Formats: sequence, C-alpha cells, structure tokens
Amino acid sequence: MSTVHPIDRRAFLAGIAASAAAFPSLAQSPGDRPAHAATITVELPRLRTPVGLIIDDSTCLVNLNKFAMPQFDEAFGSSNPVYRRNWREWPNEIPDAFVRKFGEWAAANGIKGKYSIVPYPACVGRLDRGLPGWSQADLRASLEVVRTTIMPNWDIHPEMITHTRVIDLATGQPFPEISAKFMENWEWTTGRSADEIGAYLTLALSILRDVGLPCEGITTPGGFGNRALPQLAQATLESVRGVFHAEIPHYFRHAFDKGPESVAPRVEYASGLDGPDPRCVVSIVACTGDWTGGWDNTEPKGADAFITEDGKGGRMVEVIGRGEPAMMLAHWTGIWWLGQERGFTIFKEVVRRLQTRFDRLLWMRPSELSRYWAARELTAIAATDAGADFHAPFPCPSFTVRCGDGPAGKPTYTPAGAPALVLDRVDSTAKLVDGTWCRDGVSRVACLPLRKGASRLVWND
Ligand SMILES: [Zn+2]
Repeated sequence: MSTVHPIDRRAFLAGIAASAAAFPSLAQSPGDRPAHAATITVELPRLRTPVGLIIDDSTCLVNLNKFAMPQFDEAFGSSNPVYRRNWREWPNEIPDAFVRKFGEWAAANGIKGKYSIVPYPACVGRLDRGLPGWSQADLRASLEVVRTTIMPNWDIHPEMITHTRVIDLATGQPFPEISAKFMENWEWTTGRSADEIGAYLTLALSILRDVGLPCEGITTPGGFGNRALPQLAQATLESVRGVFHAEIPHYFRHAFDKGPESVAPRVEYASGLDGPDPRCVVSIVACTGDWTGGWDNTEPKGADAFITEDGKGGRMVEVIGRGEPAMMLAHWTGIWWLGQERGFTIFKEVVRRLQTRFDRLLWMRPSELSRYWAARELTAIAATDAGADFHAPFPCPSFTVRCGDGPAGKPTYTPAGAPALVLDRVDSTAKLVDGTWCRDGVSRVACLPLRKGASRLVWND
C-alpha cells in the first residue's frame, strides 16, 4: 500500500473548523459572496447553454459491474432482485477498442464531460499496482488510451476507490465486514468527519495521480456522502487541492431528472476571496437519469426521454429552455451494453437531435462549468459610469456580461497592470467569443477573458 500523501492536516482542520463554526445549521454552505451591481448581469458563457455528459462506472479494462453486482448482493443479504442478474455471463472486460472508438467520436463531434476511472475497480486490482487477469502491458496500454483519446475532452474522476467495499486505509484491504455500513455506495460516510472522508478521497486521487491521470474533481458512487453532504463538500475541497492543487475542486453527487429543482452548479464554502488563496468547491448537478442502459445493462429508456424526435419535448429541452446548464448522466456499462453499444447508439441520436434543435449549446467539462459558475458567483462587480470594475478570485474564459443600453465606441477590457484589450464588435450574439462584444436588443454584451484580481471594462464612446 503506497503511503497516503498527507494533506496539510493543520490547514485542513482549520478550514473545516472555520466553516463548520460559521455555518453549523446549513446542510451546504455557500460561504462568502461579493457585492454585485444589479445593473450588470453575468450571462451564460458566450450566451450559450452549457451541456455535457457525466459518465460513471468507467475504469481501465474491468467491466466494473460484473464484479460489483455479487458484492452488492452480498452486502444486501441477497434480498434485492436488482443484484441477482446474470452477471456471470457478462464479459470481464470493456475493451480499449471501444474506449478509443467512443473517445474519437466524441472528439470529432466536440462532445465533452466527465469520465470516471475507478482506481481499484470492485477490488479486482489497483490501477497503480496491477489488474489480475490482465498483463501490466495491457494496463499500461489502457491507461494510454484514456490519456490520449479521453482526457482531451473529458475530466477524469475517481469514484470512489472500489465503488464497492470500503478500503481500510490502515491495511489497504477491504474491511472484513460485508454490510451496507462498509460499502462505498451506502452507509460508510454517514457520521464520518470531513477529515475521515478527505483521507479516503485522498487515497482515491493519489492512485490516479500515480498512474498519470490528473483530476479536478470526484464522483460519489451510489449514495456515498448522501448523509454527510457538508463533510463531503469540505473533504472534496481539501483532498483535490491537497493531491492535485486544483484551483476550483468540484464534485458530482446530485442528479434531478425531473421537476423544478435547479440543476445549476452550486458554489460552496467560498472564502478568502480577496486574499492570495481564494477557495471554494462546486457541486455539479446532473439533470437527467441514466436513460442509456444503466449501470446494470437494463432496457434503456431511450433518446426521447432526453429530447424527442421533433425537438419539442424531453428533459434536455425543458432544462435548456429555462436557461440552466444541462448535464446528462450515463453509466459506461450501459453505453457499451455488453458490446451491443445500445447506450452509445442512443447517445449519438440524442446529440444529433440536440444539434438539430439548438444552435447555441456549449459542450463543457464539469471543471470548465465549475470555473465559470465560481467566477459568476464570486467575482465582485461594480458598475461605473464608463462600464464595470471587476475583482475576480479566479480567472475565467468567456466571462460574458450584459450591461444596459448606452454608447459603445471601442470598448476595452483592462486587467490591472496589463495592457488594454480592445474588444472586437461582432454583429450577432452567435459570434461571441473571448475579446468580442455585440449589441443584443438595447443592451451591450461583452465576452471577456476574465483575469484574476482587478480589471476594468470601459465602453468608450
Ligand atoms: Zn457509479
């Protein structure tokens, strides 16, 4: 068992104590929020709706849920028919050839999102040590496929260490007791401190670091953290910073596949915004269920649940229509569906329908969406006679602001201590990119390469 790379315990505990003391009652604490002029709106990036695909249960080579299902069944005392499927007939492996095929298709179509890599899939073997049943060369090749065909468009997340049995950090082995209390998907996190959960996430992240897969976030397996949400958020913040020095850690825990509940990202535990070390953690929310075959190769609900053939109905149409980011959810198991690629086929159709119906989508990884939302919520914005003054804890591309009516000659964006950037005018909002502006109705919209610290937008008549 490699040494768990220690988080800076003192800073870690100080951070925990500070936020827990400040917000004892709230399930999730937003933390600090700066002043924000009411006359200036931060719009969606480039006036486009962020979309993406969140893929769970993927890893290298191992067909995770073939090995996980009997472990779920055992922990559940063989009482749940969901875990009594014909898993013995499922292949051990989801081939790299399919990973490459999917990755190349996504790259060719500009599709982005998150792709889990379970570090010690169902206790079969640790990716940084070896996978019994595969050669080291197989494992190296599989990691390389992930690096070259997945990572360009997809964030990598652990989920968590095994997605099944909880690993005892003292021994590196699964705890002996097989019950919901010692399964990652169920009760283990309940009642645990942010420190304990953070140490667990740190091992998960360290294994991926050691095999050359950087992460800016984590995915919770099953119900992991469900009854420990503040601790989960704080543990993510500290462990992802601790292992990867990520500026804006994020996590995927929640999915709301119907109803009015907001599915916009949630910026939490923000602090130190004006100082040298601003901090926050972002909760990325999925807005669909898994309608592509699930974690267990069930009959897929199909494309219509996402978007109907005529582009008028479906959850994506609803969420995009209300102006919120629309992150879809799927499991790698169902995307491949025992080699029949049923989920992949459905997803390709969903993408075709989205591209036909909408011309203002922006495919984003959760890390990009987290950065945009953190900048949107945590940048101080003051309206001035000439335009706007910003104070940003985090830099952010395509930071799109709407100002009311007014003159605009040669607008400039000037970060403190840097030369002014003259914004180019475009004649339609569809052409907005970094460093441009346009009129939209009576208002003026600018798309800025937001810099950390102080900066100024001047409309210059
Ligand atoms: Zn999962």
